[in-house]
Amino acid sequence: MGLKIWLGQGLVDEKDAVISVFDRSLLYGDGVFEGIRVYSGKVFELKAHLDRLYESASVIRLPIGMTQEQMSQAIETTVKANAIQDGYIRLIVTRGIGDLGLDPFVCKNGKVIVIADNVKLYPEEFYEAGMKVISASTIRNHPMALPPQIKSLNYLNNILAKIEAVEAGHGEAIMYNHLGYVAEATGDNIFIVKGGTVQTPPIQAGSLDGITRRVVIRLAKEDGMCVVEKNLTRFDLYTADEMFLTGTAAEVIGVVEMDGRVIGNGKPGPITKRLRSLFFQAAHS
Ligand code: PMP
Repeated sequence: MGLKIWLGQGLVDEKDAVISVFDRSLLYGDGVFEGIRVYSGKVFELKAHLDRLYESASVIRLPIGMTQEQMSQAIETTVKANAIQDGYIRLIVTRGIGDLGLDPFVCKNGKVIVIADNVKLYPEEFYEAGMKVISASTIRNHPMALPPQIKSLNYLNNILAKIEAVEAGHGEAIMYNHLGYVAEATGDNIFIVKGGTVQTPPIQAGSLDGITRRVVIRLAKEDGMCVVEKNLTRFDLYTADEMFLTGTAAEVIGVVEMDGRVIGNGKPGPITKRLRSLFFQAAHS
């Protein structure tokens, strides 16, 4: 039996959840999306995800055609219909069916798709031993050309960097911006720890305003840690005491090697572990 998918106005069987070849998400990557976790039957940070989705949609002039309240209902309905206790929601709003031209205004209303499924995680040993990453040669999109806050359906910039990671035999690649400063990983935000201070690049460096990033910054501050958002260079990463990535799917995951250099003592560090455990508590509270 397949999944029940929310498509447009209600649930349909997975086999019937199809969209047109004229859909602008296919033709142009014209739409926005969110990845959201369900922990113990509860949707994690739903409000923050919806705010981000509606902001992304508003910037690209995409009318969602549903209030946030109706969207929450659609998500709850989809999660329940698929009996998801611990899982992952992919929420997509495509601009819908247009003609073959670029003009977005021929489409009057976006189409909402909600998929609730089991989550695909990094292997457990990545969390215990830490991940190895590389520096991507693919430069992150210029933030003034495509604001990184827009979580759009066009991920080719990230996919080009992900190709580099996979071909190097690693799970993630770190992307730099046009000025050479660290931006983020292909699907996660990046943090380092240096001399007890938790550091992460500012959004303006070209990073998505990650919800996990926000939660981790809040938890770190509540725990008395010093957190600074500042431009980081490749040198800062190589000489960090600890490095970790944050994201909805990855949660908090330590990085122990980058471009062949050992980070810290080659094991996920104490602050990484502490933040991972605080995140786990927050997610399951
Ligand atoms: N950066 C990029 C490019 C992403 O796609 C994501 C989400 N997978 C993140 C960072 C992490 O964001 P969040 O914590 O909201 O999942």
